[in-house]
Amino acid sequence: MTDRDDSRLTRREFLAASLAAPVIFLVGTADGLEAFAATRELEATPACGDADDITPSQTPGPFFKPRSPERQSLLEPGIRGIRIVLEGYVRSTKCKPVPHALVDFWHADASGAYDNAGYRLRGHQFADDQGRYRLETIVPGVYPGRTRHFHVRVQAPNRPVLTTQLYFPGEPENKRDSIFNPKLVIALRDSAAGKSAAFDFALDLG
Ligand code: FE
Repeated sequence: MTDRDDSRLTRREFLAASLAAPVIFLVGTADGLEAFAATRELEATPACGDADDITPSQTPGPFFKPRSPERQSLLEPGIRGIRIVLEGYVRSTKCKPVPHALVDFWHADASGAYDNAGYRLRGHQFADDQGRYRLETIVPGVYPGRTRHFHVRVQAPNRPVLTTQLYFPGEPENKRDSIFNPKLVIALRDSAAGKSAAFDFALDLG
């Protein structure tokens, strides 16, 4: 099975999410890898733009499972892989934080396999009062036909679910994955403990 679909989304410029410290963002685009330096301070209210910044939806693929455990860390004994912390805001396209938004992640292990029997590398959490979420996990492996990605569902309280995927910058397979969308690329940097990443979700809440 595959989690491709036939939708091919228009290329849009990737907007880097805010991070707490000066970093080098590596940004994958349809034209290849671009690196640029940026200094951003952690902001109480994240930078956000117009309705064009809405986070695009993508297919859930075949491996979603409901009722994942509530947890911010998907790390468990025996899990191999490069550690990554992904964090950011859930906000509306009008820049309002979405407190207590549901953020539900699932992704492949380092060898590209999903746990369809249990809940390894699956977990949901609720954003805090400022709309912030924080995920601690490993870098997903690639599997045939797909570039490296996280799956995620995001839902403001009592609102429709946004299902989408997040991508890594500079991945060779990004160019060959027909549903890859540069608007869904995380900001990524290396740290002593592994990798740190950021992505802000923008929900169309009307
Ligand atoms: Fe997948």
